Amino acid sequence: MALLDLQTGTLLDRRDGPAVLLDPTADAAALAAAAATGGIVGIHFPSFGDGRGHSLAVLLRERHGFKGEIRAVGYLIPDLAPFLLRSGFDTAEITDANDVGTWQRALTRIKHIYQPGFRNPAPLRRDASRKEASDLDARLAEIDDLAFRIAELRRSVKGRISFSTSLGLEDQAILHAIAESGADIDFFTLDTGRLFPEVLETVELSEIRYRLRIRLVSPDAAEIEALVARDGVFGFRQSVENRLGCCEVRKVRPLNRELAGAAGWITGVRREHSDTRAEVPFATWDAARALTKINPVADWSTARLTAYISAHNIPVNPLHSRGFISIGCAPCTRAVQPGEDPRAGRWWWENEDKKECGLHMNPHREGKAA
Ligand code: SF4
Repeated sequence: MALLDLQTGTLLDRRDGPAVLLDPTADAAALAAAAATGGIVGIHFPSFGDGRGHSLAVLLRERHGFKGEIRAVGYLIPDLAPFLLRSGFDTAEITDANDVGTWQRALTRIKHIYQPGFRNPAPLRRDASRKEASDLDARLAEIDDLAFRIAELRRSVKGRISFSTSLGLEDQAILHAIAESGADIDFFTLDTGRLFPEVLETVELSEIRYRLRIRLVSPDAAEIEALVARDGVFGFRQSVENRLGCCEVRKVRPLNRELAGAAGWITGVRREHSDTRAEVPFATWDAARALTKINPVADWSTARLTAYISAHNIPVNPLHSRGFISIGCAPCTRAVQPGEDPRAGRWWWENEDKKECGLHMNPHREGKAA
């Protein structure tokens, strides 16, 4: 038996089991009780022709608001993979690890999705979605004012738009513009458990300044325990693979859980950040997450960013004045010297071309920045 991550199509080195296992006849009370555990919920498929497990997953997500891991177990065949993913499953127990390639191909086989599902709540045509994102990209390029860009993307994208803020300079500028525009945007930050105290202080300062609440999104506790038991407390320093595994559990999965069901995702990515981000557009269709990814300050220079922050007296992380530019988790971030690459302070022990945490990677296109 092997455990497959349906969002990335990769095998997971975990031995944890479901906190509760539902059979296809589970009623509303059983679903509510399963959701209340907060642990991994397994759903049993007694045969590949029994689709009731898909409905249970959708009910868990949509009716009970369950955000934890849902795992498919039982009689599973690779053809089910895209349907499991779309109905809200995160993982699947597959009988033979050697079949992983077949499962990966099944996950990418369906190119056009016309029906609604947990990971594409609106019945979108992929090509139409691509064109809408491309049109938005062109319109944002013609708008100079950041608050007007926010207003335009809010007007254009129908449904929930989520802003994942790291409280970095770019994100603070975007937060200010969102507050200025009055746009209805959902915002949160990934509390990896390894943040600098100064990041949390910046959360509080921003909440006071803009009279809002920034949700802190935590990783799954059981996944963290399994990760640390396997790799050690600072195992991410031992190899790129370990580091990506840590970022996967502490950042990527919580992010994907939060973005499930969103129509748009705002980030603070700028083209100046690195070579891998040099051509990042203002808006692009993220097919793997089935949403429009929007980078409203993609074209901003560092000089423009700092001038904007200064002009609006925007609260910033005090670490910036101590040489920290791109700020991530405390053990993986150091100050940089004048003239150094802005991202040189992130995972400085690794090669430059490996320096992405996975948040801005497309899970179904290996190694390419989205
Ligand atoms: S930045 Fe470092 S501590 Fe944070 S999730 Fe990635 S590897 Fe783990």
